[in-house]
Amino acid sequence: MPEILIRNASHVVTMDDRRRELAGVDIRLVDGVIAEIGQGLSAKGEVVGAEGCVVTPGLVNTHHHLFQTLTRAVPGAQDALLFGWLQKLYPIWSRFSPEEIFVSAQIGLAELMLSGCTLTSDHLYLFPNGSRLDDTIAAAAEIGMRFHPTRGAMSIGESDGGLPPDAMVEREDAILKDAIRLVDRFHDPSEGSMCRVGIAPCSPFSVSRDLMREAALLARDKKVMLHTHLAENDEDIAYSLERFGCRPGQYAEELGWVGDDVWHAHCVKLDGDEIGLFARTRTGVAHCPCSNCRLGSGIAPVRALRDAGVPVGLGVDGSASNDAGNLVLEARQAMLMQRVSRGADAMSAREALEIATRGGAEMLGRDDCGQIAVGKRADLALWDVGGLESAGSWDPAALLLAGPLRVRDLFIEGRQVVRGGQVATIDLPRVIARQNALARQLAT
Ligand SMILES: [Zn+2]
Repeated sequence: MPEILIRNASHVVTMDDRRRELAGVDIRLVDGVIAEIGQGLSAKGEVVGAEGCVVTPGLVNTHHHLFQTLTRAVPGAQDALLFGWLQKLYPIWSRFSPEEIFVSAQIGLAELMLSGCTLTSDHLYLFPNGSRLDDTIAAAAEIGMRFHPTRGAMSIGESDGGLPPDAMVEREDAILKDAIRLVDRFHDPSEGSMCRVGIAPCSPFSVSRDLMREAALLARDKKVMLHTHLAENDEDIAYSLERFGCRPGQYAEELGWVGDDVWHAHCVKLDGDEIGLFARTRTGVAHCPCSNCRLGSGIAPVRALRDAGVPVGLGVDGSASNDAGNLVLEARQAMLMQRVSRGADAMSAREALEIATRGGAEMLGRDDCGQIAVGKRADLALWDVGGLESAGSWDPAALLLAGPLRVRDLFIEGRQVVRGGQVATIDLPRVIARQNALARQLAT
């Protein structure tokens, strides 16, 4: 891969072990890795001028349902609570095919890239009309995103007391068989990996206790990560107490769903004991503040989680419940939400940015990403702070306190995937047109 020199960055927020911030430095990218950081480096390949830019590590998104970009702002689901929202959207999602899955994924990935994201997980838990996780993996490979897709699943339909329509659930033996196929085919555990597969039953209320346990055993056997939704809102806690006779954290522990190879989305309603459990076991939390606001779920105890030592990453969540997929906005929202509940000193802009970069990378087991340091992967976001939103700002914290909300340039594995504010790897206007055509078809 050709060498790239990022020249004379005005300010670099490294998120390295010393949390250094550097002014007026160059960064050399060689073979997908940060090879050198310093002043006056000589150029051997392409040079990208970074005067007037703040450079951060690429942001890391730890929870998403990319397919949902096709169901943003659906009337009837805009103001519903979580369970009612799902019941409105399931019949629409049941009409998706592999093309809907592919196109909606590229839209979501492009949106993430333009907001600074270089590594995202995805949680696909329904597979209508021949759709497969392979469709999202192909979408990510084409656009050039570092990708951690997870094989979701639902197995308890309406007739068994679950939420999804019976036609949308799968047999549990088929779910596990497909998870094995996907891990064997796509999972790359090596340093610098562009694809790592996880196993992710949708939630404790959409699969059986047996499947939760089997999924955990399979993940340990294959050395891949586990992911699901947990303790999202009050209804979720009530369901757990009524159906399982315990709180979600205890349910997770009983089934093997704690450990540093597990991360749960939301966890808005974890109590003190559950936070202690997650801290002891290094179980991660994907914090999704905009989704929590949008669905009225509450304010996740991020301050308490971080103080206890729980790994916390950031997630935009599915676009049907956000409905945006802008990751730097999500970091801003995370900061604001803690301040609403705990005061103006509850979370700084730098801490929110740390959760959005290094925090998420560590939670996903990616010590090779999430920071700007020699030897780490060359995943970098360049933010032009010479424009309107940043005019008059005194400090790079303006990135979260003011803007900009889009990157100028983005590098993933040393490859420039956003150039001058435009996605450089796909014909995005064509994909947007196709997405809109698909949405119109689904609306009829
Ligand atoms: Zn979700």
